[in-house]
Amino acid sequence: MSVSLDWLGVSTYRLIVDDLVIFLDAYIDRNPLAPPVGMRISDVQRADYVLVGHSHFDHLWGAERIAHQTGATIIGSHESVRLMEIEEVPDKQLVAVAGGERARLSDSVSVRVFPSQHSCIWSTAGASGEVCLGDLGLTLDERQANLDSQSALRRSSDVPGMAEAVAHMTECTQQPRGEGGALAYLIETPLGSILWKDTSGHWTGILRDLRPDAALLAAAGRGNIDGEPIQGTLAQFVAREADLLRPRRIVLGHHDDWNPPMTSPTDMEPIERELSRQAPRVELVQMDYLDGYPILGR
Ligand SMILES: [Zn+2]
Repeated sequence: MSVSLDWLGVSTYRLIVDDLVIFLDAYIDRNPLAPPVGMRISDVQRADYVLVGHSHFDHLWGAERIAHQTGATIIGSHESVRLMEIEEVPDKQLVAVAGGERARLSDSVSVRVFPSQHSCIWSTAGASGEVCLGDLGLTLDERQANLDSQSALRRSSDVPGMAEAVAHMTECTQQPRGEGGALAYLIETPLGSILWKDTSGHWTGILRDLRPDAALLAAAGRGNIDGEPIQGTLAQFVAREADLLRPRRIVLGHHDDWNPPMTSPTDMEPIERELSRQAPRVELVQMDYLDGYPILGR
């Protein structure tokens, strides 16, 4: 049996288990100013499943075309499924989940779904080694007011390329309600298990009872712990997830410069340092796009 993993930018991966092709998220066609990942959605010829972490465009956009091109089944939140229905993905290719389900993907591979949390996009975030404090206990209205003022700031910015980045975002969004509910997936194969999460947030009580062999984690934004922003750094957040899960190896995603100048690459050095302090036994795998990495081997 072979299990190989390709990173396709942001938190999108292609996981191939023998003949079974599973996309984790589907955002591949990005802002032309971002470094290219080496393939486009139109190149996807084979896919059996697309698992969707949440409904923001940098995760979901592309799933509808993969489903149309390949006949793949999309597994995602009820909100992701609602948006895929609007994109005319046939009902028999849609599976809505909320966490607590186990789905069979082949004779030997299955996936368990868990409720998760989205990073605190409404709160103050800094570089990966920068301590961020406060923003605790905000109501939904207060969080929304922060989001609205961030968006107004972006739209009025005269930084070169910002108008294009905003236009890309507007073109790709499928108008989800919020993030549509974030999910984590545990993919179980005969060679071991892989936990995949596509945004920096979690429920502590869920992660601490899982023991995946490998974990694909997101390293961007202000981490969300049980619904509130981490009081500390992104690096500490990632290391905390590694410590809760205790996998043999971790792969980080969402750290690339996927929609410049709105995004910038995450500085990995503070994360590496924090990981070696808090989770010294975990191997950090640094992947490039389309590496075909044997994630459960060696
Ligand atoms: Zn998101």
